[in-house]
Amino acid sequence: MAAPKRKASRNARERRKKQVAGGLILAVVLAITLGMILYLNQPVRLELTGENRFHVGDKVMLSDVVKGVLNGSLATGDIQLDSSKEGTQDLTVTVKNRMGREMDETVQITFWQEDFNPVITAPDTLSYFIIEGQSEKKAAFDPLKDVSATDEKGKSYPVTVRGKYDLTKEGEYKITYVAASGDGQTVTKDAVLTVTVVRSPFDEKGEMMDGTYKTAKGFDLIIKGGIAYVDGYMIVNKSYTVPNGFSSTGDGTRSLTPETEAAWKKMHDAAPAEIRGNLTIRSGVRNIADQTVIFNNYVRENGLEEALTFSARPRHSEHHTGLAMDITTSSTELASQQPAKAVMDWLNENAWQYGFILRYPEGKADETGYIFEPWHYRYVGEELAKTLYNNGDWITMEDYFGVDSAYKN
Ligand SMILES: [Zn+2]
Repeated sequence: MAAPKRKASRNARERRKKQVAGGLILAVVLAITLGMILYLNQPVRLELTGENRFHVGDKVMLSDVVKGVLNGSLATGDIQLDSSKEGTQDLTVTVKNRMGREMDETVQITFWQEDFNPVITAPDTLSYFIIEGQSEKKAAFDPLKDVSATDEKGKSYPVTVRGKYDLTKEGEYKITYVAASGDGQTVTKDAVLTVTVVRSPFDEKGEMMDGTYKTAKGFDLIIKGGIAYVDGYMIVNKSYTVPNGFSSTGDGTRSLTPETEAAWKKMHDAAPAEIRGNLTIRSGVRNIADQTVIFNNYVRENGLEEALTFSARPRHSEHHTGLAMDITTSSTELASQQPAKAVMDWLNENAWQYGFILRYPEGKADETGYIFEPWHYRYVGEELAKTLYNNGDWITMEDYFGVDSAYKN
């Protein structure tokens, strides 16, 4: 009997052991499950970048606002936010926890707009004139010339032009000036560009015909007695001549016009002593016969093509007019050396105050027809001289008035 009893109690012990072990395993499984459930369901929280103010129109991505998600992930991936409207808005961010359960979180962001209201200063109407028979060399047309956009604080903004126009076709073209803030905001102003074909002042032989015309920039061009005046200023260049027999004084004597002479004296007296000593008129008025000799000499020495770049054909020289002069030198080499160089520099900075312009500035041969001549000054009066001086960035008469300088025959 003893053995079965022992056996029975052993069996009971085994059973209890199993029960305990089973309970333990169950407890562990339960604990793990509970832990898993707790872990997977931990509260989800957005991790923010701290950036929540953006400019209207900026490209803003969700990742610019939300750095990450604690205990979960974004349900959407990185997306671009709508930045078109100004103001504060609730941004709804869909997230999912580790179980994959989706929920919405909210974050406040603001799109703000700087006050962008510059005033565009630009003409309401623009004109461009196509001169008949002169299509090969059009006057430069810059619709942005003298156009600016400035706000009340004095800050300037870049301006561009929208709209199509054709400078080779007569018509009215609507264009729009656009000032841009740099962050996508714009202010606009409309204008009308009128392109008009006007008759040429030259006949088929390239000779000027008396009459009233327009320049490419809309100035009045009057040719009277074979002399061209634009806005009242006499123009002599490769296009415009003086007539045969012309003399600046009218009586054949060679002298500067009284205004030019007086302005020269005033400038000479005002020059600092070290400049004045070298400030002389090397070549003033020349009649047509003088210029014929000079030009033919240059052609002999340099060949026709080169001579044309720096010397005028007879009737085409500004020296006929009594308004122009070569000061101190007329040599490119000497002009770049002292003492002439000091004179050239002083003239370049000061001559405009006495009504003189540097007639053939550097790099403007396409406009004037002549290479840089630092010694050749032309009297135009103080008002126009100041404009053309342009704070040291010389504008040529051709560009300003919209006339060309090219031989017509
Ligand atoms: Zn000259």
